[in-house]
Amino acid sequence: MQQILISRCLLGEPVRFDGQAKLLDSPLLMRWQAEQRLVPICPELAGGLPCPRPAAEVEQGRGDRVLEQQGRVLCQDGADVTQAFIAGAQAALEQCQRHQIQLALLKARSPSCGSRSSYDGTFSNQLVDDGIGVTAALLRRHGIKVFDETELEQLALALSD
Ligand code: SF4
Repeated sequence: MQQILISRCLLGEPVRFDGQAKLLDSPLLMRWQAEQRLVPICPELAGGLPCPRPAAEVEQGRGDRVLEQQGRVLCQDGADVTQAFIAGAQAALEQCQRHQIQLALLKARSPSCGSRSSYDGTFSNQLVDDGIGVTAALLRRHGIKVFDETELEQLALALSD
């Protein structure tokens, strides 16, 4: 049975930077949970960051450039958390490889998990349309299909068993 890597905050776990969760209330998600398909991870905690933690944004919203050491992940006070974000992305990739996971359901707009857009690094609530989080970028680079919580139907179609 195909398994799905999932952001822990979408399962209602209070792991976000502000100590809150972002429970995704969905019959599809409940079914996948009952089928024991879900493998949870919070890349930022896996990378060693605490909870709660300061909000962070990826420079220019480009997590793919962070992987190429051409961008950083910064907190608003300038603290550089790039290495923790990269470590968290690698932990997520290792989970996928351990469980032979090819599909991921990751929280939208997160500097780690966002896969379709990301904040631009200026802490001014501006999204970059083709932005991507660090973890989502690393998983995509390794051929894993990444969906967010607005794409559950597409994820359901991608499940082949
Ligand atoms: Fe949720 Fe991902 Fe942020 Fe962790 S890093 S709180 S799993 S969006």
